[in-house]
Amino acid sequence: MYWIDTHTHITMLPTIEEQDNCMERTLNAGVKKIVLANVDRDSIEPIAQFCLRHSQNAFPAIGLHPTEVFENFEQELVFMENLINENKTKYVAIGETGIDLYHDKTFKEQQIIAFREQLRWSKKYNLPVIFHVRNESATPQSTLTPSQTLTPSQTTTPASAMDEILDILKHEQNGSIKGVFHCYSGTLQQAQEIVEMGFYLGIGGVVTFKNSNLSEIVSQIDLSKLLIETDAPFLAPVPYRGQQNESSYIPIIGHKIADVKRVTPQEVAEITSFNAEQLFKI
Ligand SMILES: [Zn+2]
Repeated sequence: MYWIDTHTHITMLPTIEEQDNCMERTLNAGVKKIVLANVDRDSIEPIAQFCLRHSQNAFPAIGLHPTEVFENFEQELVFMENLINENKTKYVAIGETGIDLYHDKTFKEQQIIAFREQLRWSKKYNLPVIFHVRNESATPQSTLTPSQTLTPSQTTTPASAMDEILDILKHEQNGSIKGVFHCYSGTLQQAQEIVEMGFYLGIGGVVTFKNSNLSEIVSQIDLSKLLIETDAPFLAPVPYRGQQNESSYIPIIGHKIADVKRVTPQEVAEITSFNAEQLFKI
């Protein structure tokens, strides 16, 4: 049996030596394959280099992360699509892409345009999508000073990035789009809609957090619809919560899922690895 980390940013480690040492710990932990999600133009080359050094175990994605969508997003997308066409690097997915309204909604419309464009790539190049969806934070806008008062409409009903994404996908999904909702953070009902549309849920360290409802959702969704991921260096599972995450912690997440679903870790490893291999063709 072996595990697969379907979402890591291992090249955020600052040196090649640190990256390669991390890969060694990952393999020693029984994690045989990792998928490297892309963020922006600058992350493309380090990811390509890493995946060349570890070609049996590491697989690159390409895409523009929603928090990296700025005025120049169209140029960035053209640059990336050219790389897909050049075909020097064999990408296994488009991503990560989606809508992120958590810290900043300034470029919301552009995020949606960029997301739609990357969905088009997914269809054109027959590549699965790594979806990144993060809702607006429920706290009031930070631009308001304490002396300013809020009307009720300013304090309630934050726009839901998840609703927007699901709405777009309901129109775009004709059976040809495959993908994973990375670091899934929606409701149980949304999770059920997502798996009915044929997508996977990416489950990470949050499932080990006491204040999270993710384990309840995991208990209700069939293992055949789940992938495991770290999102390293972010979101380390308990007992490493708050520290730097890495792919070698994947078995901790897998064991938690096994507990929640009352199956063996071996079953979780086999089914989720199979799912990842089917989706990314790795
Ligand atoms: Zn990520």
